[in-house]
Amino acid sequence: MAVKNRKIKCKYFLKGVPASPGIAISKVFKLKGESIRIDPTILKDSSVDDEVEKFVKAVERSKSELKSLQSKVAHRVGQENAKIFDVHQLLLEDSVIIEETINAITKENRSAEFAFYNVMQKYEDTLNGSTADHFQNRTSDLRDVKRRVIRHIQGDRTDHLNQLSGSAVIVTNDLTPSDAVMLDRRKVFGFATDLGGRTSHAAIMARSMEVPAVVGLRRVFALVQEGDRIIIDGSEGKVLVQPDEKTIKHYRQLQEKYYDTNRKLEEVRNLKSLTLDGKEIELSANLEFTDEVESVKSHGAKGVGLYRTDYIYLAKKELPTEEEQFQEYRKIVKKIAPDSVIIRTMDLGGDKLPESFLIPPQENPFLGWRAIRISLARKDIFNTQLRAILRVGAVGNVKILLPMISGLDEIHECKKLIESAKSELQKEGIKYDPNIEIGAIIEVPSAALLADRIAREVDFLSIGTNDLVQYLLAVDRGNERIAYLYQHLHPAVLRMIKQIIVAGHQEGVWVGMCGEMASDPLATLILIGMDLDEFSVSPIAVPEIKKMIRSTEYREAARIAKKVLQFERPSEVERFMTKIVRKKFKDLI
Ligand code: PEP
Ligand code: MG
Repeated sequence: MAVKNRKIKCKYFLKGVPASPGIAISKVFKLKGESIRIDPTILKDSSVDDEVEKFVKAVERSKSELKSLQSKVAHRVGQENAKIFDVHQLLLEDSVIIEETINAITKENRSAEFAFYNVMQKYEDTLNGSTADHFQNRTSDLRDVKRRVIRHIQGDRTDHLNQLSGSAVIVTNDLTPSDAVMLDRRKVFGFATDLGGRTSHAAIMARSMEVPAVVGLRRVFALVQEGDRIIIDGSEGKVLVQPDEKTIKHYRQLQEKYYDTNRKLEEVRNLKSLTLDGKEIELSANLEFTDEVESVKSHGAKGVGLYRTDYIYLAKKELPTEEEQFQEYRKIVKKIAPDSVIIRTMDLGGDKLPESFLIPPQENPFLGWRAIRISLARKDIFNTQLRAILRVGAVGNVKILLPMISGLDEIHECKKLIESAKSELQKEGIKYDPNIEIGAIIEVPSAALLADRIAREVDFLSIGTNDLVQYLLAVDRGNERIAYLYQHLHPAVLRMIKQIIVAGHQEGVWVGMCGEMASDPLATLILIGMDLDEFSVSPIAVPEIKKMIRSTEYREAARIAKKVLQFERPSEVERFMTKIVRKKFKDLI
């Protein structure tokens, strides 16, 4: 709501979930979601001709939009990748589709959008019923074309993802991973979304892009206008719409202060991640996009503790080939050498829906066909990825990480498939790493309880708190309404983490953490004290966490961890840790 106080004056002041730190001051770019509304009203006879003309014009506009899009994409990623737009243009020249739509307008007095929607839906349903991947891929083309034409019928000429001309803050209902992958990231100054929590993928992507973000704002999309001035305070979770000049000045000062603190933190870049009493703790970084690999080194991380390969699948309409994957991984591995890169096999499903193969709509996508469950069902896709990872293992220091493991059978099956990919490569005389290390993400409570058994089968464990917290506490990580219940400092979560670390150590394997909890300064001392061996955090969090590690005595952290494990409520843990961190790290927090 409109706010006036000494320093802040703006049209709307909104509070959401702080998702990525820093301050952005820019203008709004409204990114429209995927949903389309269709008007079902029956037309008067006198309006029918106008409606046909509206439809024909919308088809023409769509065609010319596709042409210009095609040449832009060809310029950016090559002719081959732009061919898909040929298919879209052909669909718009299909006389059956056009005639059926015009018939529905003239004979049934339907609106152009209703008529076209139904014709396209009929073909989409037919293809959806087919089991062949080839046809299922085509449904996404039909959907694209359907949306484009309807957008033009409704008089909206903005092709949402391609209209971002200057730099702006993206305001959207929800940022899907597939949308994010299409954005020209150099032009994005920040994000503000209605939906999402701190560990939703939009939030993780914003941190990886190092732009401020606030998520879970509920109605920011409805409140702002295209081009409005906007301030995003990603550290505090605040959004200010149409601020006055004085407010902007105040936020520019805060922005400078933020940059200053970061510059100071960069002093630790080349220093080791050692506690005051000499315990070395591995500090690596999470990586989402290949082109952000530089920031892993520039922020002083040692290696990549989690490379989310999912974006390779989301960036294209076809499945990435073994060679494409190998080349992508190679770029990263070479840059990070001699440090290691832990490559996680794909974690599609949930909110990550590729266009290259169909993940059918599911009642509970995060509890459904996701991650390793897909890999084990689609062994062809899995094998291609395993071969690419094994091959890149011959180029540098690489480990495999398996997501969403819920029990031992999955581990056994994965190991068998890794062995069979190795023998294929051996037979074909292709170089690979025969001794590649294999790790499991512990992110499902059943795996946490079986961590000792799983540890016997693998070389390392990495705790995925983003999912572990949602599955353990039954709190959807992306749902802003219950974001207050998503607490990684919950005593149940802390107990489970301690148990996983103890189990791993008993079985002689190291235990890391790649979930966002590892980036939270309130958790750092607890995790050091619980003997976590490795922290893998978003690159921007590396300096802060390194500084904390370097200013802490392991013995003191162990005492803190022991004390905290006795608390009964998340609020007690939070209060206790806030006090300690504020006192010890005044200049940081
Ligand atoms: C996790 O669940 O903690 C994790 C690291 O994986 P993702 O966030 O990609 O689900
Ligand atoms: Mg996960």
